Amino acid sequence: MHPPGAAALSPTTTTTADDEGTPVSVKIRERLNAAKKRFNANDNIAEFIEPGELEQLLDEVTQKMEGVLSSMVIDTERDHNTDNTARRVAKMYVNEVFRGRYVKAPSITEFPNAEHLNELMIVGPITVRSACSHHFCPVIGRVWIGVMPNEHTNVIGLSKYARLAEWIMGRPQIQEEAVVQLADLIMDKTQPDGLAIVMEASHYCMAWRGVKDMDSKMINSVMRGVFLKDPNLRREFLALIPQRKS
Ligand SMILES: [Zn+2]
Repeated sequence: MHPPGAAALSPTTTTTADDEGTPVSVKIRERLNAAKKRFNANDNIAEFIEPGELEQLLDEVTQKMEGVLSSMVIDTERDHNTDNTARRVAKMYVNEVFRGRYVKAPSITEFPNAEHLNELMIVGPITVRSACSHHFCPVIGRVWIGVMPNEHTNVIGLSKYARLAEWIMGRPQIQEEAVVQLADLIMDKTQPDGLAIVMEASHYCMAWRGVKDMDSKMINSVMRGVFLKDPNLRREFLALIPQRKS
């Protein structure tokens, strides 16, 4: 038996006297460790964040960013261009470009395949925006998704593929892992006979820094189910993707 109200508190969130000054990131990390959950850059950790904590996390990241600017010897007090930069960068990371780490998956309504669709369907190009885990530099590109449904496949609206892609890409990513995460998610939501994903992206860590190559793109693909077994289907999908600009 729980006393009234006790059920709302999980054991890890019980507030103790010296819990007050504990950074919210530490509390979230303790929950992840207790649950033995991985929290790599491209993992979603939404289920370990309690209501109100994302705002606290934003404050904590702001403070730490102020420290980064200070260590870079930028006079944020007199340089009015940078006086709110720490907050802006924190908001950009937590609420915008890496939001896919901190919020739950978009809710997607799945419909039964009442029309018994069983022909190859291609969605794309979907514009995707991410950042590399190595440098936090933008990764911007396009994704094509090929779905081979069967009578048990759940059908989702075309725009929902873009929403699922946005959630996966909204984390510091490695392109090879991003396409696999997206494939796993779409397989899980729709249960098709086969799934094919091609992603083509520019990595700004190659253009802005490093080799400063403005034109190189990375292309990779994932094939699942019938796309793995049937080379003709794979060829059909790749032939139907509009000619990519080189
Ligand atoms: Zn990079």
